[in-house]
Amino acid sequence: MTQMGQQRQQQLSRFAFIAVLLTSLLFLFSAIGRTAHEPGTPRERARDTPRTLLNSAAIPSLIVAYHGVAAITSKHVGKIPASDRGGIREEVPKKYQARYRQWKEEFLSTDTGRLQWASYQSNENFTLTVVVTRDNPEGGTTGNYKWNEAGKLVAATITLGCRLDAGVPNPVYFPVMNSLLPTASTHEIEGETLAAAKLAHEFGHVNRTAKGDSVLYQLQSQLMPQYNSIFLSNGRDTSDPRLIEIAQKMGGTPVEVWEDREYWGETNAMLYLRDRFVEDGMRCLLFNRIKHSVDLYAPSYEERFLNIAQSAPTGRHCAW
Ligand SMILES: [Zn+2]
Repeated sequence: MTQMGQQRQQQLSRFAFIAVLLTSLLFLFSAIGRTAHEPGTPRERARDTPRTLLNSAAIPSLIVAYHGVAAITSKHVGKIPASDRGGIREEVPKKYQARYRQWKEEFLSTDTGRLQWASYQSNENFTLTVVVTRDNPEGGTTGNYKWNEAGKLVAATITLGCRLDAGVPNPVYFPVMNSLLPTASTHEIEGETLAAAKLAHEFGHVNRTAKGDSVLYQLQSQLMPQYNSIFLSNGRDTSDPRLIEIAQKMGGTPVEVWEDREYWGETNAMLYLRDRFVEDGMRCLLFNRIKHSVDLYAPSYEERFLNIAQSAPTGRHCAW
């Protein structure tokens, strides 16, 4: 195939991928509303689990619903201006500065938030950029990862929506943030707490990517679109030998790779909530909700959440 032919092919597959992605989003938004407000029968619930979503879409649409399309399509390669010398750089339009300050103060009111913020602030070898934008207003995302030649993560960008204090993400991939869903018993929890939990979730992504294998991360970013493209063109057959081979290289299917990343983000949000609610009553209420969602949608990841429940300073682990 000529170079132009290859480019055309790539453009077409990218277009097809985004088109299917948007279609599945439209379908899934109704499912999200249902899971967030009324659990439904066990059979209905089963439709929303990560495993069954694999049969309806090659990409975890419920993740896109929160993180936005950019999270899936991002190449995760950022350019660092020569002026960057590490630390945290905040790019917040004037009109959003007051609300951003509240969210940040809320995050920094906990040991988890303070320690993590300080560690990035004082790191001369890592530049964390925090952006507030009106795109994907109730969501957040992390990307623009950049590694040095030694494979060490040197930069990342956290992008926050301008209405971060509204919109509770679905319980399938976001069991911790979803625990803040306002009900009679939790309606007093402020929007800033939800926003700070979302910020903590994004910090969790950066923390994890910094600790993880850079070669594997980049390989996953490169291979996931290929996997999805084949999956959507082969009648959605996951037993296709080509897909099995790609999944082996990536350490899992795209859904498995994404769910692993999301649950790391959520454990960091849970650390924030653990520190934010020092009274057993509210903390146990939220932890019980988290446990309920983890039992339903992420039983194989329970240990990550259990470890945090067990680290609560008062020693009470609530229902775990
Ligand atoms: Zn996430």
